[in-house]
Amino acid sequence: CGIVGYVGHRQALDVVLGGLRRMEYRGYDSAGVAVLDGEGALNVERKAGRLANLEAQLDTTGREAFAGTAGMGHTRWATHGPPVDRNSHPHRDVSGKVAVVHNGIIENFASLRAELEADDVELTSDTDTESAAHLISRAYDNGDTAGDFAASVRSVCRRLEGAFTLVVTHADQPDTIVAARRSSPLVVGVGEGETFVASDVAAFIEHTREAVELGQDQVVVINREGYEVTDFDGEPAQAKPFTVDWDL
Ligand code: GLU
Repeated sequence: CGIVGYVGHRQALDVVLGGLRRMEYRGYDSAGVAVLDGEGALNVERKAGRLANLEAQLDTTGREAFAGTAGMGHTRWATHGPPVDRNSHPHRDVSGKVAVVHNGIIENFASLRAELEADDVELTSDTDTESAAHLISRAYDNGDTAGDFAASVRSVCRRLEGAFTLVVTHADQPDTIVAARRSSPLVVGVGEGETFVASDVAAFIEHTREAVELGQDQVVVINREGYEVTDFDGEPAQAKPFTVDWDL
C-alpha cells in the first residue's frame, strides 16, 4: 500500500519510518522495514498491525541493529495471504540477501510459485510477492544477468503479470536500490547526496520537493548521486520531473 526507499547520508530507518507515517492515512494492516548496513548485511523487521507495533518490535530488538544509510519500508494492504507477520513485507530470498517490497497484485504468482517449488525453493509466505524475491536472487546469481542487480530486476519484471510497484535491495549492492512499476505509482525524490523512491510524494516531501514520476513499465536505479531510468529491456527511458508545490 505505501512504499518508501532511501539511499543517502541520514539513518535510513528514521527516514523510512517517517515516510511510512506520512502515508498512514491510506490505511494498511502490516508494516516492515529493511536496512542495509553497508557491510553486506541486510536487516529486516516486519510486523502485523499498526506502525506502532513495528516500532515497539524495533525497540525490543534494539534500533542500533538497524544502523545504515540505505533502506526501505512498506505498509501492506493484504490481497494474497492474511495480515500476519510472515506475510508482511519485505520478503526475502532463501539466502536473505535480496529483499522486496511490493504494492499491487502479481497475477501469475501461482505459476511462479510452482516453478520455484519444483526447484525445491521453500516459500515461507502466502503472498504473490515472495516469488519475486527468489526470482531476482536467482537471476543475480546465474545466467546472463549474473552480478547485474538492475538487469536481474528487469528480467524478472518482464515475467510478471498484473500491477506492481516493486522496490528491491541486495546485500551485495548496499549503495543502490532498484525500483520498477507497472500500473501502480512510483516516484523518485531527488535530494542533495540523497535519493528517495516512493509510491507517494508524501513519503519524502519533508526532505525534497524535486520529484520524478516514472512512466509505465519503467525501472529506476537510485544511489546517493541520483537516478537512472530505463524500460524493462534496459533501454534508456524518459521519466517526468516535477516540483511538488503543495504545502505540508
Ligand atoms: N499483493 C501483495 C500482498 O498481498 C501487496 C499488497 C499491497 O499492495 O500492500 O502482500
